[in-house]
Formats: sequence, structure tokens, C-alpha cells
Amino acid sequence: MKTIFDRPVEPGLVRRALAGSRFGSMWLDIPRPSYPPLTAPANCDLLVVGGGYTGLWTALHAAERNPGARITLVEADRIGWAASGRNGGFVEASITHGHENGESRWPDEMGTLEALGLANLDGMEADIERLGLAVDWERTGMLSVATEPHQVPWLREAADEGQGRFLDADEVRAEVTSPTYLAGLFSARTCAIVHPAKLALELARACRQAGVTVHEHTPVGALRGAAGGLLATTPGATVSADRVVLATNVFPSLVRRNRLYTVPVYDYVLSTEPLTDDQLARIGWRNRQGVGDCANQFHYYRLSADNRIVWGGYDAVYHFGRRVDPSYEHRAQTYERLAAHFVLTFPALDDVRFSHRWAGAIDTNTRFCAHWGTAHRGRVAYVNGFTGLGVGAARFAADVCLDLLDGATTERTRLRMVREKPLPFPPEPVASMGIQATRWSLDRADHNAGRRNLLLRTLDRMGLGFDS
Ligand SMILES: Cc1cc2nc3c(=O)[nH]c(=O)nc-3n(C[C@H](O)[C@H](O)[C@H](O)COP(=O)(O)OP(=O)(O)OC[C@H]3O[C@@H](n4cnc5c(N)ncnc54)[C@H](O)[C@@H]3O)c2cc1C
Repeated sequence: MKTIFDRPVEPGLVRRALAGSRFGSMWLDIPRPSYPPLTAPANCDLLVVGGGYTGLWTALHAAERNPGARITLVEADRIGWAASGRNGGFVEASITHGHENGESRWPDEMGTLEALGLANLDGMEADIERLGLAVDWERTGMLSVATEPHQVPWLREAADEGQGRFLDADEVRAEVTSPTYLAGLFSARTCAIVHPAKLALELARACRQAGVTVHEHTPVGALRGAAGGLLATTPGATVSADRVVLATNVFPSLVRRNRLYTVPVYDYVLSTEPLTDDQLARIGWRNRQGVGDCANQFHYYRLSADNRIVWGGYDAVYHFGRRVDPSYEHRAQTYERLAAHFVLTFPALDDVRFSHRWAGAIDTNTRFCAHWGTAHRGRVAYVNGFTGLGVGAARFAADVCLDLLDGATTERTRLRMVREKPLPFPPEPVASMGIQATRWSLDRADHNAGRRNLLLRTLDRMGLGFDS
């Protein structure tokens, strides 16, 4: 069976739309202050490794919890250059990668997880306001759209469960006009949009203001126990620290045994040039909601403050060998597929051109939402595995890491989600074979009215099933 996205698109249209696009994240195309590398030995109470959202929230909240503590954050490259500067900027309340994923794993604590997730989103909005962070924050809500008939009852069911308001085809097209939309689900409270790179840069500024020392171009090569604490080695100097948080996401964990839990999956994104008022009027979209369609292979899209459409998703590509490798970001066929799907979704925008194309690696574990751990007798805490939903969840994860280092029992650390680990991925070549078979099956399900084959049903039963 074909889906709406299998319809042919004139190749010339796709070529023209992409012709002027530059490679690199549109979000990172802004002035970025720099922080000096570490060149002399340092001592601190808390060392945070990683300058994406997780590390930045950890350092900021640690400074607020313990005024006067000596906190150092080191970043291997630039602040926010990795996933935190390349994502879609959807800040979702969910800390479990969606309701179904959480419900299938921790039905008994789903109420608490959803309440904590919403409190985290509200808390993030409050932090941004209190600290005066200029990050283009807009609490727009999220519009899920059905583009195939079998998806319509899914949205109706979700509405019946209280996950949002069901919109029929006319209602959803009155919000955003696309001939592909058959129905919608609008959830007003559970999603904001943000400028991803500004969020990272502004958090770094807030960290500095709170007294955190920040170093860029300072990769930690090794971490080991030393008399009364920990010693981190960087090219310029060593850092002695009482406690360490590892916020290194998809990059190789400094705790070796943690490496088997995640694999990098590449996600690809396009951004248009700013739409003119006339172009925007052609598709409505006055209320600026974040939008996502609801197949297994889904697209996510939103407006930027200057009215570009940021359009990503669909292909999620795993490469044999679990490496993070910049060459994987160049994938012409994926950018062309994304552009073709854009044209199918918004035929009224056939004169719109893409200005940027980029990709990033997503840190995926077998349960599709964060897992935590400690090492070195509780002096080191780490978190990994946000999969595709880490912009909001990173702030929650940072608070959990600080609770774990404090040895505190909190509502957060009592969660099974925090105490339990996912199953690790098997070594290659089994990992690659399993992931590719799963991807193929998900694509088949999308082409078969959502029906899941034996492999997917087995994975579902084992708690390894992915359902977007
Ligand atoms: C294309 C794309 C789209 C996405 N869209 C969304 C979305 O719309 N909504 C959403 O919620 N999530 C989304 N995500 C996921 C989200 O971006 C991430 O989950 C989130 O940014 C993770 O933040 P982080 O700080 O943990 O990781 P990162 O931003 O990856 O930061 C980790 C940092 O650690 C540094 N580091 C690693 N190792 C070392 C070391 N040894 N020494 C020093 N520094 C080190 C790295 O250089 C890096 O800067 C998307 C991801 C991608 C790639």
C-alpha cells in the first residue's frame, strides 16, 4: 500500500528548492561568544562534562542549589554545537518520549511522570523568564496531524484519553492548510517551541552569571578516582573534582560500561528562507503551533521567530559500527526526500526555497527515553538516551543527576524510570541487523495501515517496541 508521501513529485521542483541550501544548522548561524580552553590545573567541587542542555542545566541548578560552590563546566568543542544546536526546538512536557512509550513501561507511575514532566516544562518557562533568557520561547502547543485514514482513530482515542482536542479535517486545515491532513489533535499545554542554539548560549551566559567557570575546546579524555575525589584529564591540564556529572549524550561515555546502552541514530533537517506574509497566508498557520504527523516515520515542523519553516524527521539512519561521524550528515537522498515531502505537504509553497540543511546524531537506547547511573562510589552521575525528545527532558535529567550526587531520596529518584536501566544493545553485527530489521518493519507498518508485523509485536512484548 502506498502512503501520501509515496506520491511522485516533479524532480525539478525538489532540485530548485534545495539548490541554494547551505550545509549546517540554521540555528547555529548566529554570533556565538567564546569561552577559553582550560590551560592550567583546576580544582572544583563539581565538574560538569558537556556543554549541551544537560550539562548547562546541571551547572546552573547546582550553582543555585549551592551558592558559593566551585563549579566548572568543560565542553570538548563549542557550547551547544551538537544536538542542542541542531534540534527542532520542540520542548515537550513528556519525559518518557510520549505517552504510549511511558504507559507501556511504567503504567503504575505514569501519573507521576506526566505531572513531573509538566512541572518541568512550567519550571523551564519560569527559569527562562526569571533569568531573562532571550531564546524565542513560545508556548504554542502541539498539533499532531493524521495523513492516512488509519491514523484518524488513533487521534480520536488520544483525545478520549485526555491528551488533547480532536480536530476533524476542516478544523485542522483551518489551523494549518495542507491537502494531506485528515484530522488533528491539539494539545495546548504540553509543548513550547524555542530557538535551540539561543537556549544553549543563554544558559551558558546564565551559568557564568551564577559563578560557573566555563571552558570550550576542552575534551575530557579520561576520568579516574584519585585521593579523596576524581581526576579528569584534558589536553591542557587536569581537573580535580569532588563530584562529576557526565552530560556527554551520544559521544562515548567516560564510564565504559555505559557505552553499550545507546547507539547514534542520525536525524536530518531542512530550513526554508523566511516566508513572506503572502506565503505564510497561503497555508494559514497563524497560531504557530509545533506540528508533527503521526506515522512511525514522522515529520516534525515549526516556524522560527523570523517565519522560516524548520522541517525534519522521517529517515532515522543508523550506521554500522555505532560511530558518531560527521560524514554521515551528508546524505543527499534524505535531504531530497525531505524536500519532496515538504512539497507534498505544502503544494501552495512551491516557490519557497530551502536555506539550510543539516543533521545530528540522536542518542537512542532501547527504551527511547533517558536512563541514569552512578559510578565511582556515587561521586559520578550520568544520563543518556534521550532519543528524539531531550530539549525539555534534559532539564529534568539534570535535576535527577544532582539528586543522585546528593544521595538524596526525592520524588524523582524514587521513580522506577530513574532506578531501572534499559536492556543494552547487542554488539555488532547483531545490533545493526536488529536495528535495520526494525526500521524496515516500521516502514512496512506505515504502508500497511499501521499493522505491526511479527518482529514489531515481539519487540512490543519484550518492552523494546517503538511507537511514535
Ligand atoms: C536533528 C535533531 C533534532 C532533534 N529535535 C528535537 C526536538 O525537536 N525536541 C526534543 O526534545 N529533542 C530533539 N532532539 C534531541 C535533543 O536535541 C537532545 O536530546 C538534546 O539536545 C541533548 O542535550 P545534551 O546536552 O544531553 O547533548 P548534546 O547537545 O549532544 O551535548 C553533549 C555535549 O557533550 C560534549 N562532550 C561529549 N564528550 C565530551 C568529553 N569527553 N569532554 C568534554 N565534552 C564532551 C559534546 O561536545 C557536546 O557538546 C533532536 C536531536 C537532533 C540531533
